[in-house]
Parts: sequence; structure tokens; C-alpha cells
Amino acid sequence: MSVAKNLMAGRILEEALFPYPDLREKDREVLGMMVDAIDQFLGPRHQDFKRWDREAGQPAQFIQGLRDLGLFGLIIPEEHGGLGLSNAGYARVLSQSSSHDSSVSLTIGAHSSIGMKGILLFGTAEQKARYLPRLASGEMIAAFCLTESGAGSDAASIRTQAVKDADGSWILNGEKIWITNGGIADLYTVFARTSSPAGKITAFVVEAAWPGVSHGQHEDKMGIRASSTTTVNFADVRIPAANVLDAEGKGFKVAMAILNNGRTGLGGGAVGGMKTLIAHATRQAQTRKQFGTPIAEFGLVRDKISQMTLDCFAAESAVWMVAHYIDSGVEDYSVEAAMSKVFASEALQRAAYEALQIAAGSGFMRDAPYEQITRDCRILTIFEGTNEVLRLYIALSGLKDLGKSLGELKAAVDDIFNNFIKGFGVLTDYAEKRLTRATGVGRDKILTPLPQPLREPAEVYERYTLELAKASDHLLRKHGKAIADRQHDLKRIADIGIDLFVGLCVLSRAAALSKATGEQGVQAIGMARVFAQQAKRRMANTVRRITRNEDEEMGRLAGFILDKGSYPWDVMS
Ligand SMILES: Cc1cc2nc3c(=O)[nH]c(=O)nc-3n(C[C@H](O)[C@H](O)[C@H](O)COP(=O)(O)OP(=O)(O)OC[C@H]3O[C@@H](n4cnc5c(N)ncnc54)[C@H](O)[C@@H]3O)c2cc1C
Repeated sequence: MSVAKNLMAGRILEEALFPYPDLREKDREVLGMMVDAIDQFLGPRHQDFKRWDREAGQPAQFIQGLRDLGLFGLIIPEEHGGLGLSNAGYARVLSQSSSHDSSVSLTIGAHSSIGMKGILLFGTAEQKARYLPRLASGEMIAAFCLTESGAGSDAASIRTQAVKDADGSWILNGEKIWITNGGIADLYTVFARTSSPAGKITAFVVEAAWPGVSHGQHEDKMGIRASSTTTVNFADVRIPAANVLDAEGKGFKVAMAILNNGRTGLGGGAVGGMKTLIAHATRQAQTRKQFGTPIAEFGLVRDKISQMTLDCFAAESAVWMVAHYIDSGVEDYSVEAAMSKVFASEALQRAAYEALQIAAGSGFMRDAPYEQITRDCRILTIFEGTNEVLRLYIALSGLKDLGKSLGELKAAVDDIFNNFIKGFGVLTDYAEKRLTRATGVGRDKILTPLPQPLREPAEVYERYTLELAKASDHLLRKHGKAIADRQHDLKRIADIGIDLFVGLCVLSRAAALSKATGEQGVQAIGMARVFAQQAKRRMANTVRRITRNEDEEMGRLAGFILDKGSYPWDVMS
């Protein structure tokens, strides 16, 4: 039962949100050692990271250090030589490494989150036994090869091809671009069309040492410059039949499952980056004086620090909730994973902007850490699904899957997509009926006992869950199946959903923290209250814009400019 998809039907799946999950005891033990070891290893290397950013590369000796620390075996089960961390524990490690350097996190993360994840999720016992021990030790580093020059967001349009030979092996030809770890990997998870140029996609495990496999030059990137990004080429590469992942023709499903499962790694990294920015911004605000006063005394500077903190807490709450879903065997978490990725990546970019603004002129100098972080974090809204495409995915999967996740609604929702006139009003009716039945007052109450100060934020989410169901209903009623092409509206649905899901995670975490005595618990309640007010303003505005907007005028303006090919006005003419 997906929490996010249920929100679109006006339903808060309370049991999947409260109480806020704890880290597993076993993770705590490993993390206790790992976090210290990471700090000791990466902490003294900050000047090196700057140099490697300029020189664009990580020395082999440094990568050996990452191997020695066990950072390539984080999520590989102990029986295969790894540390056996859960998704939540893994995200926490990436948060720690990202607090030092993003390129380091990318080297580790591309290996675990996506490079070898296919073997973990879909590998046979034989494939696991053959590869996982070497992947755990870092003897083999992994990369994920999906993107091609003609296939970015539209990953299903790849042209790399694998043709089956008479003996059951495959011959692979094609080129992948922008592959993280491309230049240092020993093992690639490769996606190719099988049998015919229009055939289905199949996933393969390909070793870099096999004849016909090569990679291009290190790409000269804007950020994460030290991490390896290259093309990877396959020229008549023979792949044994035993190296197909899952089944022939199931490659697209494999790719999407890997990306969904890996998103908490990216989210954890974003949280680590925000924590570093908050620490820098705090130090700067306290030490820099203007007008005879530390700038930390100025309301506009304080506002930036509190907003960064609030964003970080919210991202952290959502990312670890999703990690918990994955660890506890929830099968349908892809929408929540996408929501947490979108929120965390954008929150980090806001934080990078504001932290640099607090440091102002000195923040603009390359000596300071901000410019590198600003460049490094820019990628997070682009890879592992652009945030635009993820927003469309969030809204469309939510709307389409309503029928599947809510048995009693199936026929009615099918009607909306098959015959939308018949489906008029079904979601609103459903949401209102259900809410009335559940509470007697027309709202889906959060029944978990919450401290009094958290009732008000709870009411915001209760109310806007109903609004989201009504908005979904309104849009389906108005556009029927054509909703799939209404991108502005889909974005609005996604944005309300993201605020609701992230806000509910914040609420749950604050409720758990409120039980702890001391200032942190009090501040957590305060953050939950403020987040809800901010979310309410955003959601109210978005709901309003579903019926009153300038979409058509903006569309015409875009059409005009696209026709012209440039901005045509000039004060001279
Ligand atoms: C540094 C780096 C590392 C990478 N690492 C890997 C890796 O390890 N493995 C791998 O396989 N790939 C990797 N990628 C590729 C990455 O996943 C793609 O860049 C990403 O999927 C987006 O594809 P694209 O860049 O071709 O953009 P495009 O798909 O061309 O998109 C261009 C713009 O159009 C928007 N857009 C596209 N489709 C739609 C739509 N339907 N509706 C609305 N807007 C749309 C996008 O949001 C974007 O703003 C990496 C990329 C970079 C830059």
C-alpha cells in the first residue's frame, strides 16, 4: 500500500507513517564505527578534494583507501563479504561521506546504489556468489550503463543491441554516455535491446576486462569533477548466457527497480551536503561582523539559517522514511522515493544558494567551500531521473494506480481512464464518503496520539489530503485520459503530494522526538509547525492555480519565442 498514492484518494495511511521508524540496532553498531572512520579518513583531505576537483580525478591510492575502509561493501550481505547495512544505514553513510566531498560519495554511491544493485535485487545465487565478494571488497567497482546520446529521460528508446548467438551467448554493440565510474569500473550493468532494434530491453552483467569493452576520456564536468564520468563502448562483446540479469526482455523493469531502490542514497547524500552548509553558514554568521554586529544577529541572516535547517530536517525525515519502507519489505515505494529525491535535491540547492549568500563576497571566492558545493550539487536534480520527469511520474503513477491500490475503487477509476464521463466525481465522492465515515466531521483524522502543538499541523495535512483528492478528481473529470499531456496540472498534483508526504514524515518524526526531553524535542515540534504553515501556503496557492492560472498564455508565449528562436525585444527598437 503506497502512502503517496493513497494521499491522492484522500487517505492518510497512518499505520505506514507513525511511529517514526528507528534505525536497526545492527546498523547503529556498524554506523558507529563507520562514521568515525569516514571522518578520520576524509576529514584531513579537504585540500586534496579541492585539488582533485580542479585536476578532475581521484588518485588510485585514494580509491584503494576507500576499498580498505569497506566502502564498496556497504549493502552487500555479510555472507558475501559485505557489511550488510540496510538501506537506512547505507543512506547514513552516504550522508557522512557527502559532508566531506560529493565526488567521493558519487564513486561509492554509483557502485552500490545503481552499479551492482541489479545483482543484489535480481541476481541468481550463482551470479551473487560469483560477483558479490569481489564487489564487496572493491576488487571490482561497478557502474550502471543506461543513458545513450539519443536516450536520456526517454530511457526506453536505447539503441544498444544484444543479439543472441546459437550457443545462447549474446553479442553486444553500442555506446553509453555519461557513465559514473565509467573509467574505473570493472563491472557494468548494461541495458540493451535484444534480438531486434525494436525488441525488448534486457539487462546484462558485463566485465570491463572482456574483449570489445572500452571507455572514453574523463568528462570535463561542471561539478563532481573528481568522480569518473566517461562513455562506455561495446564492440562485439560476447556475454555468456549466465550473465543475463533477471529474464530476457525484463531489462526496463530491472532498470527502474534499481533506480527506485537507489534514490535514498542520493537523498542521504543531499542531507549530508546540507549539514555541511549549515555548519559553514553558522560559523560564518557568528564570526563575520558588519555594522558592529555579528551578522548572525540580523533577522534576514537568521531566517536563512532557520530555513536551511528546516529544509534539512524535512529532507532527512522523508529520505529515512522511504529507506525504512524499502528495508521493511514494502513493495510499492517508487512514488515516495521519487518525492524524497525531488525534495532533497532541491532543498540542497536552496541551501547552497543561501549559505553562499550569507558568506557573500567571501563565499564567491574559490578558497571558500561554497562554489564547489554549488557546482557539485547541481547534478542532483538532473541524474537518476530529472526532477521534471519525476514530478510527472509521481502524479501519473498516483492517478493511474488509484484503482490498483484501492480495491473498492478499481472499477470506478478504470472508468475514469476508459470512459471518463462515467467516472465523474468518483474521487471526490469517495474521499468525502470515506472521510465522513472515518471521522464524522468530513476529514481523515490522524488518530495517533499527538502532542497538542502537533494537532494543528496534523489538521493542515488532513485538510489538504482531501484537497488533493478533490483536485485529482477535478482534473480527471475535466481532461479524462488527456490528463497525461497536462504537464502543468500534473506538476501541481505532484507538488501538493510532495508537500503532504514530506510534511507527514516531519510530523511523525517530530512526534517521536517530542518524547525526548530537552531543546531538540521542543525545536522539532516547532519545525513541524512551521513546515506545515509553509506547506499550507504553497498547497493553497497550488490548489488555486489548478482552476485559475496562466498556462495558456504562457504556452502561447513559449510558442512565440520558440518560433523566433531568440528574445526579440530591445529598448533600442
Ligand atoms: C554527471 C552525470 C553522471 C551520470 N551518470 C549516469 C550513470 O552512471 N548511468 C547512466 O545511465 N546515466 C548517467 N547519467 C545520465 C543522466 O541520468 C541523464 O542525464 C538524465 O537521465 C537526463 O537525461 P538527459 O541529460 O539526456 O536530458 P533529456 O532527457 O534530454 O532532458 C532535457 C530536459 O528536458 C526535460 N524533459 C525530458 N523529457 C521530458 C518530458 N517528457 N516532459 C517534460 N520535460 C521533459 C528534462 O527534465 C530536462 O530538463 C549521468 C549524467 C551526468 C550529467
